[in-house]
Amino acid sequence: MRRYLFDENIENFETHEIDVAIIGSGIAGLYAAYNLNSAMSCVIFTKENADTSASALAQGGIAVVSESDDTFEYHFKDTIRAGAGLCDEDAVHTIVEEGPWDINKLIELGCNFDKDASGRLKVTMEGGHGRRRIIHSGGDATGFEIVRTLKELVHGCPNVSLLENYFIADIVTNNGSVAGIAAYNNGWHFFKTSHVIIAAGGIGQVYRYTTNPLVATGDGIAMALRAGAALKDMEFVQFHPTGFYSETSRNRQCFLISEAVRGEGGILLNEKGERYMVGRHELAELAPRDIVARENYREIENQSLPYVLLDITSKPESFLTERFPTIYQNCLKSGINIAHQPIPVGPVQHYMMGGIKTDLWGATNIRGLYAAGEAACTGVHGANRLASNSTLECLVFGRRCATSVNNLMDEPKIEPPKIAASKFDSIDIDIVKEKNNIKGIMVKHCGIVRNGKSMADGLEKLIEIIEKIEPAAYTSIPMMELYNMALVSKSIMTAAIARKESVGAHYRED
Ligand SMILES: Cc1cc2nc3c(=O)[nH]c(=O)nc-3n(C[C@H](O)[C@H](O)[C@H](O)COP(=O)(O)OP(=O)(O)OC[C@H]3O[C@@H](n4cnc5c(N)ncnc54)[C@H](O)[C@@H]3O)c2cc1C
Repeated sequence: MRRYLFDENIENFETHEIDVAIIGSGIAGLYAAYNLNSAMSCVIFTKENADTSASALAQGGIAVVSESDDTFEYHFKDTIRAGAGLCDEDAVHTIVEEGPWDINKLIELGCNFDKDASGRLKVTMEGGHGRRRIIHSGGDATGFEIVRTLKELVHGCPNVSLLENYFIADIVTNNGSVAGIAAYNNGWHFFKTSHVIIAAGGIGQVYRYTTNPLVATGDGIAMALRAGAALKDMEFVQFHPTGFYSETSRNRQCFLISEAVRGEGGILLNEKGERYMVGRHELAELAPRDIVARENYREIENQSLPYVLLDITSKPESFLTERFPTIYQNCLKSGINIAHQPIPVGPVQHYMMGGIKTDLWGATNIRGLYAAGEAACTGVHGANRLASNSTLECLVFGRRCATSVNNLMDEPKIEPPKIAASKFDSIDIDIVKEKNNIKGIMVKHCGIVRNGKSMADGLEKLIEIIEKIEPAAYTSIPMMELYNMALVSKSIMTAAIARKESVGAHYRED
């Protein structure tokens, strides 16, 4: 594995000095920045614009105990059950019990969650939850509202700036401690700092069908791996049962049909019009995600249509346009009026339970390196994330990372090591073709249903790709993303091969 993606002498980079670098402008990164001590200078880096993130796309909402018939214990138990018993219990207690504080804080700071006529927060139901505890905003535009609020808040912090179109390539370390980061923006920059928070989101783009944005190429996890950080639970990839089916989203991004549609009464039908989830799980369509995703996959394998149907036509159009404005409009654009027609859906990659191993304060095994949000793995989701727990996780552990950094404010900056220019080959690589190759390998060999022989074949193919691209000169962002995708895919495949039993989202047919 290459240690660094760049092949120039770091002394030639444009050099800057800051107290804290945050990689990613999703909920985890923005909330971490907001919670930093204002005496520290902080830069949030984002590889495209500030709104391009999974966070901004979150629809269903945030799971949080707010009703009198609900308790921390119930939320805790639902999370553990969804995670197939592999959750880190302390991490679950942390998000369940501290989450309400962060939600109240967000509300106090101007975030508008949907309320009923008496001013109480509206709560809905999602798969795997035993109580109505999902709060939401704008019907199905929860992430957009949280990101809007947090962006405004950090904009008002004089110590925080946000740099768009800065691609972070690597964490520079010296003797096992963070010395800074290497960023690409029309040339190379070195930001000297002793505190880096990776909040760079998920890995969805390594799969052919995903709800994740195009920026989700696993860069944060790959740069941490190159820097020597430990990864955890990489075999646990969540597939959402209901991505909108369309051939144009192949190799790009699928529009999500939120679990909340099933929470509000949507039912799943196969091509014969049979409601197959009844009798397969006591919660029928509201069974945990991994189970519904697998059943959808099986139905599709056994019928001629490449999708199943999600039917919410039992609800009046006026309800649907108010409760699911984003979904209603997006489906309409594709010729489906959800009040009158069932929605074609299929299972798609959606979330990464694993990631950079951290403790409950966001710390990794590298001094000065922290991680939060989807790129991190505290173990809170175990083998399968409970719906709407990830935005909560971003808030709680984003804030906790900031606390860790605040406590080590006076940490001295260390010098970067002398990294000499390396000589890499000018090999001709068809980047789009190789990215699509990886997506094909991952969906075929490490998808919803896995087996050892197929995964071993998949690993061999990934290693071939890595051997081909590793010696190339990395002169563009897509090329760096390609290498990150290959490294992350290899980590997922290797972890999946090592786990012999089926558990949660990791299902082995052998
Ligand atoms: C369609 C969709 C709907 C969802 N709905 C819900 C929901 O209702 N409830 C829920 O709890 N969860 C939901 N999730 C999951 C949840 O939104 C994400 O897990 C969470 O928002 C991740 O936040 P994050 O801050 O960790 O990362 P993200 O929001 O993904 O942000 C990552 C940021 O890092 C930047 N970045 C990445 N690599 C680099 C790099 N090399 N250099 C610089 N910047 C980089 C990206 O550009 C981006 O700004 C949904 C996810 C999707 C995709």
